[in-house]
Amino acid sequence: MTERTLVLIKPDGVARRHVGEILSRIERKGLNIVALELRTATEEVAGAHYAEHEGKPFYPGLIEFITGSPLVAAVLEGPRAIAAFRQLAGGTDPVEKAVPGSIRGDLGLDAGENLVHGSDSVESAEREIALWFPELASV
Ligand code: ADP
Ligand code: MG
Repeated sequence: MTERTLVLIKPDGVARRHVGEILSRIERKGLNIVALELRTATEEVAGAHYAEHEGKPFYPGLIEFITGSPLVAAVLEGPRAIAAFRQLAGGTDPVEKAVPGSIRGDLGLDAGENLVHGSDSVESAEREIALWFPELASV
């Protein structure tokens, strides 16, 4: 069951020079990179991407962080790619939730600046791929 998922190496991951490390983990896992681009997110894209979190206390800081410096946006493809990347990433809080061996568990300390994003469902992946890479959208 081949899936696609939208992944971000967030601005902290780029600033801390972990792009190679994170892409290496993705490749070692066996996922294919089908799109990859360094870019700075606009307020519009960041707001749409994190629309489900609008109104939460961390939302303004999250948008400021995500739009503040370059990030890497990617689309990964492979069997169960959505869950596979969420497993690689680890839980949202790098200390309380992410286990050692995961990207967040190994490289992170902060619940907001937590290195990576991965789509959480088929529906989210379709929405997020259409947002970040409209040329790849299925419809
Ligand atoms: P995930 O990225 O694991 O899917 P969520 O969808 O719950 O996590 O949250 C989206 C992003 O918002 C997180 O990755 C993180 O950057 C930020 N965030 C979530 N919860 C908090 C929090 N309590 N404090 C600061 N930032 C947070
Ligand atoms: Mg999420």
